Amino acid sequence: AEATTPTPVATVSQYACQRQTTTENNNKIFTDAFEVLAESYEFNEMEGPCLAFRRAASVLKSLPWAVQCLGATEDLPCLGEHSKAVMEEILQYGRSFEVEKILSDERYQTLKLFTSVFGVGPKTGEKWYRRGLRSFSDILAEPSIHLNRMQQSGFLHYGDISRAVSKAEAQALGNIIDEAVHVITTDAILALTGGFRRGKEFGHDVDFIVTTPELGKEGHLLTSLIDQLEQQGILLFCEHQTSTFDMSKLPSHRFEAMDHFAKCFLILRLENSQVVGGLHDAEEGGRSWRAVRVDLVSPPIDRYAFALLGWTGSRQFERDLRRFARMERRMLLDNHALFDKTKKEFLAATTEKDIFAHLGLEYIEPWQRNA
Ligand code: ATP
Ligand code: MN
Ligand code: MN
Repeated sequence: AEATTPTPVATVSQYACQRQTTTENNNKIFTDAFEVLAESYEFNEMEGPCLAFRRAASVLKSLPWAVQCLGATEDLPCLGEHSKAVMEEILQYGRSFEVEKILSDERYQTLKLFTSVFGVGPKTGEKWYRRGLRSFSDILAEPSIHLNRMQQSGFLHYGDISRAVSKAEAQALGNIIDEAVHVITTDAILALTGGFRRGKEFGHDVDFIVTTPELGKEGHLLTSLIDQLEQQGILLFCEHQTSTFDMSKLPSHRFEAMDHFAKCFLILRLENSQVVGGLHDAEEGGRSWRAVRVDLVSPPIDRYAFALLGWTGSRQFERDLRRFARMERRMLLDNHALFDKTKKEFLAATTEKDIFAHLGLEYIEPWQRNA
């Protein structure tokens, strides 16, 4: 008998940084369900199952085909018993009863509502829930509740900032910030990052990196930029965090830890007339502007590539880059640096490609990082 070579089947990696994931999701019915489950576990502080469902969703998002029977998932990583049971329900009945139960759960609904406010995380949401509060009017009518500045702005601009930001609006904001930053330094570097860099059509905010080609000159950039936006009358809210970056520190082990670069979380006023193809004054009940959430981060130029890679996301892609570095390469990666634990040295990078190369990973384009 002739020897037969088995047909090689392209295996799907358990790491999102070894998969290409565009914004086209062929398995949305499953991944939406997994996202509800993950969030529900997050609200109950069960990190393990939460991450498991996020990983499962991420694997399905990378598939160029739609799962049509459970058998098709046999060779896929990160899908456990629970994930498969949910998928089976959806395949059979078109919906998951477990997910529907969560969606109709009062605690889930309330925490979902509360955490949709800018400045309110699961901890604060939980605290309010435990005090018996169930709606925004409950919170605003409760005299003993102190809202911080961020939460006050979150409520004030709730309607606007919970509405998705379009690509055209992101571009308009890019032009405004580009102009403002170049008034300060003619050679300033500005890059769009976050979801819009990954090619998303809509986002919850717009993320930018700003720096200078000369190391150290970025120090006052954000402060000056904030002053500029204030003078233009478009700064509706600003929380500025100055840099606590210490270049001798090892990359953080904890993923969710924030980075130490100077950054600011803003709400900006965007005029409709500044948006190409935007609505005209009369079209929206006389409102000629909307509020938009904008994040700016300002790393020193020698950390630019790490910051760009870290802020481009997606969050799952970032988690898996770090996990891959640690588990497969004995390296530590975060938004500031890459450290090789075997060689006991930092690995420098000027581009994202350098970082992928250090990690021995095939380069993944930003629009393929929608894991
Ligand atoms: P969306 O369209 O919802 O905004 P997004 O992918 O842009 O999607 P963001 O929450 O804006 O989501 O985050 C963009 C990236 O920046 C993510 O990869 C996240 O890890 C990173 N990031 C966000 N906030 C911080 C922070 N405070 N410190 C460090 N990294 C952050
Ligand atoms: Mn974003
Ligand atoms: Mn952001």
